[in-house]
Amino acid sequence: MKHFIYCRKSSEDEDRQALSIVAQLSELGTIARVNNLRIVDTLTESKSAKEPGREVFNEMLRRVEGGEANAILTWKLDRLARNFDDGGRIIGMLQRGVIKEIRTFEKTYLPSDNVMLIALELGIANQYVRDLSLNIRRGIREKIRRGIFHGKAPYGYFNEPRLRTIEPHPERFPKLKKILEMFATGDYSLTDIREEMTKAGLLDMNGKGPLAYSSIEKILRRPFYYGVFEHKGELHPGTHVPMISKKTYDEIQKAMLFHSKRPNGIRKQKGFVFLNFATCESCGMSITGERHIKKSGLQFYYYRCTHKNKQKACEERGGVRHEKFESEVRRNVELVTLSDEWKEKFLARVESWSDEAAGRKQEVIDRLKSELSTLKSKIERLNVAFTDGTLNIDEFKEIKNPLVPKRLEIEQEIIELEGSRFDRLEPLRNWISEANEARNWVADNNLLKMKSFLLKAGSNRLLHAQTLRVSFIKPWNFLAKTNVAVRETGSISERTSLMWRRGELNPCPRRYPRKHLHVYPALGFRSRRCTGALPTS
Ligand SMILES: [Zn+2]
Repeated sequence: MKHFIYCRKSSEDEDRQALSIVAQLSELGTIARVNNLRIVDTLTESKSAKEPGREVFNEMLRRVEGGEANAILTWKLDRLARNFDDGGRIIGMLQRGVIKEIRTFEKTYLPSDNVMLIALELGIANQYVRDLSLNIRRGIREKIRRGIFHGKAPYGYFNEPRLRTIEPHPERFPKLKKILEMFATGDYSLTDIREEMTKAGLLDMNGKGPLAYSSIEKILRRPFYYGVFEHKGELHPGTHVPMISKKTYDEIQKAMLFHSKRPNGIRKQKGFVFLNFATCESCGMSITGERHIKKSGLQFYYYRCTHKNKQKACEERGGVRHEKFESEVRRNVELVTLSDEWKEKFLARVESWSDEAAGRKQEVIDRLKSELSTLKSKIERLNVAFTDGTLNIDEFKEIKNPLVPKRLEIEQEIIELEGSRFDRLEPLRNWISEANEARNWVADNNLLKMKSFLLKAGSNRLLHAQTLRVSFIKPWNFLAKTNVAVRETGSISERTSLMWRRGELNPCPRRYPRKHLHVYPALGFRSRRCTGALPTS
């Protein structure tokens, strides 16, 4: 008898328990020696036997048919086949006597053997794979149902091996959270954010260099961070700890629109803080930075118009020394600062409104809660319809996918509302504090802070004749006007009345807007319910 040795092990789940090919070879070698078998060739293959179509196996059967060998030595029958096509061929060849024997470590199968027995063993091997893949799919499905993302933990999290859950990474999680919230402000470009990440020690997986821009973008776009996860195009609410709120996520997506362009020519821009900051009043082109080196070696930094407008000739000639430019920035920031005294007065006023606000907040919470329960039952009905087969997978995804983030959004809104005492007044307090804090940035000459502050408080920043003019948006524009007016008058009582008279700084609590309570940036409105009476403080 002439034997082929056939060894096989795939990297797939069903072969996880099987001996390695090397181990199979060594075991079979021993069997061959002990039984004095004549081995024609040794064939190995790293492929699953789940489906027909293994090249080495097919080649072996072809060679057996051709008479090169008439017996097979293999570790176990399931090495030869885990599907009925291949199994049937083996049985057929055995019955026809083309194969005289199949020898395994525990048994020898001969043509005279009951075919049913061999078929049964091959059937078991086949069923094993089917069950296994079913179990694995069921396992994944079950994990997803429980809200556990199946796969490698995203940056800032780790796979907890015992519970098989995804948990916040003790060091990276808080750091990345801070970074994401920074980016959401819209004040940071992708370069800035990468620098901040590197500073914070958020490096690539090898811990050697900064993360690639593509990885950072992926992080910024990933819905996992606000509490959902995607599986085969379907969104699921996760049980993992979210890093940011849905609101912050949305803000990040908005910020991405402005900052997704990868930086280039960084070297040229070195030393300039106020790039992508101001535009030329004459031609509307952006203001760039330029360095001049005199023959003496002295360096001068200028800001100037790029003169790139082809339609309109620019009348700005020459540039602005960076010292002058920075003093213009400080002058503009000072326009929208609030003294300690007035900060206290305004905050006290806000305090008196907060009670009324609390009552209205409860109304909103109640409404959101009923909205949430409607949404939940809708999702539940969809799940039932899908399980029933009323909906196919595509219809199901299409209808359900937008509901899942919506549900999360409402849940987070409720949590946010319940956690905050002053909700709508909170932005107003923040605004008062920020206007007050801006004084420190001027005092410390904190250029970056002043830059992002003016980017936020102004709709544009125009440079003309060595002067920077910021068009302040609400409510900053009222503060700027008031500050200018206050500076121009000498009398203290006149100043006081000027500060209070700005009804726009005086947003009496009014009805909550219907939809988004927390998105309420327009503070500078004149309330309809405000009596307009001035306090006599
Ligand atoms: Zn210009």
